[in-house]
Amino acid sequence: MTIVYKPGCLEVIFGPMKSGKSAIFIRRFKELEYSDYKLIIFKPAVNTRELGVSSRAFDVKLEAIVIDEKNPELIFEYLKKKQYNIVGIDEAHFFDNHLVDVIDILLKEGYHVIVSGLMLSFRGEPFGPMPWLVGRADEVTSLTAICDVDGCNHRATRSQRLINGEPAPYNSPLVVIEDQSKIETYEARCVIHHIVLKNQ
Ligand SMILES: [Zn+2]
Repeated sequence: MTIVYKPGCLEVIFGPMKSGKSAIFIRRFKELEYSDYKLIIFKPAVNTRELGVSSRAFDVKLEAIVIDEKNPELIFEYLKKKQYNIVGIDEAHFFDNHLVDVIDILLKEGYHVIVSGLMLSFRGEPFGPMPWLVGRADEVTSLTAICDVDGCNHRATRSQRLINGEPAPYNSPLVVIEDQSKIETYEARCVIHHIVLKNQ
């Protein structure tokens, strides 16, 4: 049973691409909008495709404040301006690792923090601050998707990056956002179909 609000509580929602993280994050905050608690949501500037938090699953958007992912302490500036109870952080994997220190302070100050993000990068390795946050979490929602490879249908725990339809090499940049050109795209993959090309 999800706690609605508890000072010092950390909730983490994680999974690969297409696992419905945003849908659950949005649902959680939409539910909270009916409460008297004051909510504020942040997301990293690296992904400017969408200014708010949106989901492939349904057509509802949450407003979010976009901040520089290298400076997560900017969150403190916004919290000074007004009294909030619940702090949301979407796409937390893109933030610098000291997001963990920022969240520790928020928890000690009595905020309830709800985080969503990818646990693993396209390389299948821990992504940014996510593993440290999961280790600290009071409540964890671990999601999977269905493998995008035709006929597989296994649970997907990995995010596959493709460049022109081919698996991306290990040393390609850690952060590449899927854009309009569709040269670099992402799929959900099971462990068997997750491929990271070794560099020559
Ligand atoms: Zn598969």
